[in-house]
Amino acid sequence: MSAPTTVAEPIVLDGVSKTYPSSDGEVIALSPTSLTIEPGEFVAVVGPSGCGKTTLLQILAGFVTPTAGSATVGGTPVDGPDPDRGVVFQAPTLYPWLSVRGNVEFGPRARGESRADRGERALQALDLVGLKDFADKRPYELSGGMQQRAQIARVFVNNPGIVLMDEPYSALDPFTREQLQVQLLDLWHRERKTIVFVTHSVEEALFLATRVIVMSARPGRVIADRAVVLPGDDQPGVRSLDVLGTPELAAKKAELARLILEAHG
Ligand code: ADP
Ligand code: MG
Repeated sequence: MSAPTTVAEPIVLDGVSKTYPSSDGEVIALSPTSLTIEPGEFVAVVGPSGCGKTTLLQILAGFVTPTAGSATVGGTPVDGPDPDRGVVFQAPTLYPWLSVRGNVEFGPRARGESRADRGERALQALDLVGLKDFADKRPYELSGGMQQRAQIARVFVNNPGIVLMDEPYSALDPFTREQLQVQLLDLWHRERKTIVFVTHSVEEALFLATRVIVMSARPGRVIADRAVVLPGDDQPGVRSLDVLGTPELAAKKAELARLILEAHG
């Protein structure tokens, strides 16, 4: 998609941690974490509830300032939100008073882009997620899955180098979820953005990502960092849902689940 073009740059976390004050001292939301994510990687971050996944993503997004350590993108410290780092949340956050197209155009419009430019790009973004025919609907007229797709279009219209996704499909039924997973893989194949995808599902992480970062139960720390290679990955095109039934995926899933359990004990 043509747009305010940005070159994807590596994300570097160096000893990043976060503690919050609490009634009995402080709560460690994220133990010191260091990692580098290269442009174009599809990284899944997986771990049990409360282990700091959202905190990690919020630090990358610039919504939360780390207590220690540094987060940089292309060598520049993250010091606030940036349209080059799009964020997709678990619950759709569409403006109910705007049409779907109006929601997608919101960012470009706020940045003063011309009506013609932003209108065309909004339609392109909606086309990418298969929602072009719903451009003039209101959010409440869409299903949950379609609202999530609209949210993704709202991020992609900015042509970000990096897309941060926080359990975007957790609230969806399994069929819609699989459909959106495949669509996301397709989108990633075509656009090659860096994606950081947080999930508590080991299976979802393995199916989507080229690399999986596993976090322990709270206070969360990285306990594994694995490349994911599945049957068919040497073929051109997008991973198919068929890999979900393979022994290779089952074995990886069991291995990572065991790591999480052991770190817990
Ligand atoms: P996850 O997304 O993996 O479920 P979070 O990053 O949301 O985990 O939270 C990690 C831990 O930090 C949890 O124990 C949570 O209660 C705590 N926490 C997160 N945000 C805050 C906050 N704003 N104030 C206090 N504690 C917080
Ligand atoms: Mg979370």
